[in-house]
Amino acid sequence: GLGACSGGGAGSGNGDASGDGGSGGASGEGGTVGVSMPTQTSERWIADGDAVESGLKDAGYDVTLQFAGDDIPTQSQQIDQMITTGVDLLIVAAIDGTALSGQLQAAADAGIPVISYDRLIRDTENVDFYVTFDNEEVGVQQATALLTGLGVLKADGSKGTEAGPFNIELFAGSLDDNNAHFFWKGAMDTLQPYIDDGTLVVKSGQTTIEQAAILRWAQETAQKRMEDLLTAAYSDGSQLDGVLSPFDGISRGILTALQNAGYGPTIADGMPIVTGQDAEIASVKLINDDVQSSTIFKDTRKLADQAVTSAEAFLAGDEPEANDTETYDNGVKVVPSFLLPVDVVFKDDIQSLLIDSGYYTQDQVESGQ
Ligand code: BGC
Repeated sequence: GLGACSGGGAGSGNGDASGDGGSGGASGEGGTVGVSMPTQTSERWIADGDAVESGLKDAGYDVTLQFAGDDIPTQSQQIDQMITTGVDLLIVAAIDGTALSGQLQAAADAGIPVISYDRLIRDTENVDFYVTFDNEEVGVQQATALLTGLGVLKADGSKGTEAGPFNIELFAGSLDDNNAHFFWKGAMDTLQPYIDDGTLVVKSGQTTIEQAAILRWAQETAQKRMEDLLTAAYSDGSQLDGVLSPFDGISRGILTALQNAGYGPTIADGMPIVTGQDAEIASVKLINDDVQSSTIFKDTRKLADQAVTSAEAFLAGDEPEANDTETYDNGVKVVPSFLLPVDVVFKDDIQSLLIDSGYYTQDQVESGQ
């Protein structure tokens, strides 16, 4: 069902150390890399962690991979411990981008390079490189997918057949995640002209990122907010037509609230157009079933490869190659970055983008697992 927990059955257990050095005897030769991931409740981070770990092992390194259960003190402790045990490099996807300054100072003091993974670590000079996707483009594509789903735009970006006005609501990610601000900016720059000319109406009036934010990107929090919005702004019988959602887990919370309120079950039956991100398998199934309209595919295999390549450069005493040295100011310095492209996925794109590339099988898309 729509309310099912995300993440392929992974619980929110903290700090499940999933391996601290596979090939024992290799240490000292290649070195050891500490990999800190935020949570196992969203499957993308499990996939990221697995892909980074196996890439590093294939390249001859030992790996300490830990997940922090979305708990900031746990992540701090895990990184402290990696530094104490003498890792040679850190790869970190932060829960709270501003909470790791102490740890990263200790890393710098110990000469340990730090790669910020997917999410920028802020307010410290001790972050050496950033590997990520084009985060602002994610927001642009989410907003464009909303407009396309509503029929305001055609698939090729030209003017669509529908003029609205459409009632929409806006959701954002966790404010302590730097990415949430980039997604929001990309999306709102794209939507604002349509709000200004009356094509889109945010009926609740909640149009700031602070109002739209969902702490820790939590599905249940999103469901609750959607329920509250329906009560506050749609009890008069007016229809909701679309929802900007920044992440598939949030989208499933929204869809559950909408379904409980009598929308759908499919888009053809009046389920509002709901966007997403990460191409989580449960949501890909919902897209395949015409319930969720779109998601954004970020190929975590490619991000993991890029992290491994960058780690190898540092460990060989070189600088990794950046393709962006302007965008990511972390409050103290502009962090040299490597940005990867993203793709929007509607139902018609599942085969070419997700199945043909080997990311999922047809069976997974059909079963949602
Ligand atoms: C990532 C997204 C993800 C979100 C929630 C963000 O930092 O870039 O891909 O949807 O966190 O996990």
